[in-house]
Amino acid sequence: MKVKPFYKQLAEGKTLSVCSLVTDSSAATADESGLPIFPGGFFIRATGDVKEMPFSVLQKKANNNEKFLPLVKDIKRYPTMTTFVMHSFYGEVYSYDFENIKNGHKIERVRFSFGDKKFIPSGFTIQPDKCISCGTCFKVCTFNAIIPGNPYSINPAYCDECGSCYTVCPSNAVIPKNSLLEEERQLLGKQVKARYIKK
Ligand code: SF4
Ligand code: SF4
Repeated sequence: MKVKPFYKQLAEGKTLSVCSLVTDSSAATADESGLPIFPGGFFIRATGDVKEMPFSVLQKKANNNEKFLPLVKDIKRYPTMTTFVMHSFYGEVYSYDFENIKNGHKIERVRFSFGDKKFIPSGFTIQPDKCISCGTCFKVCTFNAIIPGNPYSINPAYCDECGSCYTVCPSNAVIPKNSLLEEERQLLGKQVKARYIKK
């Protein structure tokens, strides 16, 4: 609605990020130590550029596609209302099963883009020439994203980008988005190993 602060925000900023979550159940519970237990579900996020759509254009679209009709009817009911279209965007969609009950992996992610936006490549990769196939990354990855082999590799669709593999790799084979100071990497690596690698 053109009289609301959000209209001004969109009209001036021309950018928007939207996300949506679909779960089997609406509420997360907690385990005995208070850590959250999320029911499995789906998540989608898109970020991009928006522009206001003139009512005449919306009307024309509604003539060809009935999905636009509720918008037309709503604008007729509340004439201060308007419509924005996200014409260029990037984002991600993933299913999640953090308790690893159904899928054998915790997330499965696909990234997408539309118009002149491109998603920023993210996540971690393993440099084949530096990997000594020690398997430490495999032991600490709780997302089942590490593929054993010679060299080891990462399945980007399953990777949550938590960075655990990066902190424990003894030969700096894992390439991060944002590198940590070596001292900090090693300190965090000790904590990760203490948590996930049983002696
Ligand atoms: S921890 Fe590093 S060296 Fe060891 S298997 Fe993983 S990537 Fe290779
Ligand atoms: S960043 Fe985390 S989720 Fe991704 S491969 Fe490494 S340990 Fe697994």
